[in-house]
Formats: sequence, structure tokens, C-alpha cells
Amino acid sequence: MKFCVLGTKAGGAPLTSKHTSATALILGSETVLFDCSEGTQIQLLRSKISRPSINHIFISHLHGDHILGLLPLLTTMNGDRRTAPLHIYAPSGLEAFVRLGMSIMDALPLFPIHVHTLRTDETGEIATVKGHRISTRLLEHRIDSFGFRVEEPPHRNIDIEKVRAFGIEEGAIIGQIKREGSTTLADGRVIHFADIAQPERPPKVFVYCGDTRKCAATVFLAKDASVLLHEATFRDDMSDKAVERFHATSTQAAEVAREADVERLFLTHISVRYKSGLPILREARKVFPASFLAKELAMVEV
Ligand SMILES: [Zn+2]
Ligand SMILES: [Zn+2]
Repeated sequence: MKFCVLGTKAGGAPLTSKHTSATALILGSETVLFDCSEGTQIQLLRSKISRPSINHIFISHLHGDHILGLLPLLTTMNGDRRTAPLHIYAPSGLEAFVRLGMSIMDALPLFPIHVHTLRTDETGEIATVKGHRISTRLLEHRIDSFGFRVEEPPHRNIDIEKVRAFGIEEGAIIGQIKREGSTTLADGRVIHFADIAQPERPPKVFVYCGDTRKCAATVFLAKDASVLLHEATFRDDMSDKAVERFHATSTQAAEVAREADVERLFLTHISVRYKSGLPILREARKVFPASFLAKELAMVEV
């Protein structure tokens, strides 16, 4: 599982140097997109992520800096002669935006678009992509805004030393054990998957939070995550403004990471008033040392 932040700036007028919110999560041959701001298609091209690999889009909330790239992307998908269904998970209102927008542009989708409207009391799993379970929670923003948690399926690698100890040479036998759980060798020995597997490691977890104040829901959603991508719109000295605008500061994002006991925190959605994100990073590291600034187009292993 790898992620690529396509845009790190909070709203405002366009810049050539920074883009607004969109993040791609790569799950093998599939890409999951979180938010789809203006310029997302260009950023996808720059990151070399292919459009046909996107079958699931999760929209945190309906502010322009998170959705204004969606209609252009859907229009291009039409031009791609796409036939595969596209699933969009989003707050109430997005379905009307998509249907009306496409219809006004005379660009009715040539492929099935399934818009799954998120309920504000949603607590459980909402989707599974390549075995990865995706769940959501309502966060605290001026309008309904959701966070998403992606959990890797349980996975155990083969321990090649153990395989050698059994004297198994053929890949076909190992394949059979992986598929069926066990096999019987020609000499009568039965080998189970557990006999040749490495110890189970905790699943990797990626958490994407849309715009939000610091809140209990993000801590819950991010519990023990490998990576938390959290907004840090403001510096610490603007905590009053953050509360008023339903955003988070550097310190508050770091507090969420610390309370949720995550491995690494990546800060994004940074106000354009700041020329550099470094002061934001310094403030976050005082509270949570494993803090990083999200870097646009960097491909990061979860
Ligand atoms: Zn925003
Ligand atoms: Zn917002």
C-alpha cells in the first residue's frame, strides 16, 4: 500500500506551485482516490497514476477545494471509453452535483457511476477494495465532512528458510499450500501454511481525514494507524481561528496523532498564507515527533 498526495494546500486561488486536496492510495493494480480538487487530472498525469486504475473515489466533503476536479475527471473517463463501473462514496448532495453537472454538459456517463451517499451516523465498513476494508466516521467541519480508514487484509509472507528446511523445491507445491492451506508431500508428510509462513504482522492502516477540527472521531478512526494524513490549515497561534473555521492547527493535528498512537503523521491542507510549511512541521514535532509535511507527488509506502 502506497499513497501519493496530489495537493497539499487549503482552498484559495490557484497557484502553479501547489494544488488543493486530492490523494491517491495505490492498492496493487487499483487506485483509490480521496477527494478530487481542481487540477487532480494534471496531478494524476504527473504522478503517472492511470485513470483506468481508479474504480473507487471517496469524497470527504463538498467544499470546492475537494470536489471541483470531479466533473472534469468523469468527463475524461467518458472520453477514455471506460466501461468499468465507478463507485463514489460521498456526503449527501454529491449525487445531484454529478448527475446535474453531467447532464448540463451533455456528457451523460457511458459507464455506470454508483454514488453511495454516506449517512452522518455511519460507523462501520462501507467498502472493500482488493481485500482492504474501508470504514468512515463523520468529523467536525462547517458542513458534513468524513474521514476514511483503510485496513490491509491479514497477510503472511512465506519464510524461505522454513521452506528450505522442509526440502521443498517446487514453486507449484508452495503455490498449492498458499491456495489450499496445506498439502501432502510424496513421502506422506503434511505441510500446513503456518509451517512455512512468517509470523503474522499487524495490518497496515492508512487514514485520510477531510477538513476537520480536532475531534474524538479522528482519534477513533486513526487508532493505531500506520499513516494518518490530517489537515493542519493553521499554525498554533491561530487556534481561535481554527475553531471558528472548523479547521485544525499544527499542534491539534499532532495531538490527534499522539492520542491515536499512530506511527506517522503527514500534514496537509496548509493555508496559502504560509510561504513555507516548516514552522507548521516544527510545531507538530514538539507534540508528535513522527510528523512530516505531505509532499505533492511523493510516493510513500504506508
Ligand atoms: Zn478544504
Ligand atoms: Zn472544507
